[in-house]
Amino acid sequence: MNRPFAAGDKVLLLDSKQRRYLITLAEGAEFHSHAGFIPHADIIDRPEGLVAVSTKGAKYTCLRPTLEDFVLEMPRGAQVIYPKDLAPICMLADIGPGVRVLESGVGSGALSMTMLRWGADIVGYEIREDFLGRALANVKSFLGDGVLDRYDLHLRDCYEGIDERDLDRVVLDLPEPWRVVPHAQEALRPGGILVAYTPSIMQASQTREAMASKAWNGTRTLEVLHRGWYVEGQAVRPDHRMVAHTGFLTVGRFLG
Ligand code: SAH
Repeated sequence: MNRPFAAGDKVLLLDSKQRRYLITLAEGAEFHSHAGFIPHADIIDRPEGLVAVSTKGAKYTCLRPTLEDFVLEMPRGAQVIYPKDLAPICMLADIGPGVRVLESGVGSGALSMTMLRWGADIVGYEIREDFLGRALANVKSFLGDGVLDRYDLHLRDCYEGIDERDLDRVVLDLPEPWRVVPHAQEALRPGGILVAYTPSIMQASQTREAMASKAWNGTRTLEVLHRGWYVEGQAVRPDHRMVAHTGFLTVGRFLG
């Protein structure tokens, strides 16, 4: 990780107003903006943190994008789950190296990338072929080909069933997760965990009803509120604006 920028690396360029531009370095290429351009050659072989200056004198700080940066900037088909929920989902689902996860839908791959980063072994079911392609492209682009033996994608409708058995986790981001609960009961091993992300509380409630049996333990629903703070000299206070809602997280432990 700690090496100078090279062709093929992703770079996040931050201008003086903290506007963000994500590029991939290539020999002979240029980054163009309203303030002229920067040849990629000015960034290649230089260390992270350098300040590149455009032909019209604008300064851009150059950093490798974090997973959070990439999720916010990457190309998307379906709406992605935001970083504030991605990390809690991994904690609730107890994701770790070698954990076998069924993920559905796969969408743009933001949750996939996060769970792959945490070490999971993912089987993904997605009904839209274009989204499968998008997710695979995003995963490869950020994590490289090295993770692909842990990322097994299928063009499938998860409401029709889950083929896998003895799964450790089922992680859902699709409109009717309650329809997957009976299939999860076939596919999860005892002690396995189901997590469902749903924008609406009605979806969470219906999922809870489907999980309201002795087969499930410790079922709960929660939301994650993330309030930023403004910190400037003596003015230290919560930001005036916040994202008030993204989705609800419902989790339960399968007993078998
Ligand atoms: N969590 C993803 C976004 C998923 S959006 C991310 O972070 O990028 C919801 C996805 O569920 C969409 O791609 C949609 O096509 C898919 N989907 C909807 N119903 C489905 C079903 N029955 N089986 C599989 N995928 C489904």
